[in-house]
Amino acid sequence: MPFRHYLFLFTSFFTATAIANPWATANRPANISAYAQSIGTYDNGCLSGAVTLPINGTGYQVMRLSRQRFFGHPDLKETIEIIGQQSTNQHLGMLLVGDLGQVRGGPTPSGHRSHQNGLDVDIWFLLANPNRTLSNDERESLSATTVITGAADNINPRQWTRANEQVLQIAAQLPKVDRIFVNAGVKRELCNRYRGQAWLRKIRPWWKHDDHFHLRLKCPIGNSHCQSQPPLPAGDGCDASLAWWFSAEAKKPSPKPYKPKEPVLPALCQQVIRQ
Ligand SMILES: [Zn+2]
Repeated sequence: MPFRHYLFLFTSFFTATAIANPWATANRPANISAYAQSIGTYDNGCLSGAVTLPINGTGYQVMRLSRQRFFGHPDLKETIEIIGQQSTNQHLGMLLVGDLGQVRGGPTPSGHRSHQNGLDVDIWFLLANPNRTLSNDERESLSATTVITGAADNINPRQWTRANEQVLQIAAQLPKVDRIFVNAGVKRELCNRYRGQAWLRKIRPWWKHDDHFHLRLKCPIGNSHCQSQPPLPAGDGCDASLAWWFSAEAKKPSPKPYKPKEPVLPALCQQVIRQ
């Protein structure tokens, strides 16, 4: 074989190795300490001691199993199970759970910037029949449906029910939940009905999030390497800060292409991925 062919094999091997994301290919949890640890921030971190969310539980089912994103901190598993249980008690329907995180957290090759330290989960607004277990195929092919309609970001009453509001209220009232991201149209709908209620403070408007809500936990107690977000502003958020989301400025497409430099993961994550 001519030398340049060896050279080609050599360089392509290294390119492939550099591109492979070890966080996406890890297949078992790391255990760097006796207890589970969320490390770093939600969008630059990792997880040791992940647990698996069972794909069927009381009041919930996990979607898109092929993505292998059903791992999280034990607090996250417990929180999803509580929301499922309480939703069942109140006859609200079956929750469909999207991504949690990878088995050691960390950056994902697709989909999210956050969900890295085992404390984030996406839950669809679509509430399914509580008496039916979805097949694997259905979990891959069913789509989340938007609850927003028209240019004014109004809620679509055909896709939105009081049950959706009750699920959000159950979730926001759990003490370990830090905040929940929803489309601004959803937040406005909740403000119209529940203005002044304390749980609304945790419901935060964000781009997209019109077919699912994104629930984020606080840093777990004792996880000293977990970095919290700045605390939420006081009040229910039904104010000028909400009005901004419907302004021309908020609707402007973000200036592209802006590619932020890949952040460096916390040093402890090296230990997590090498284990
Ligand atoms: Zn999310």
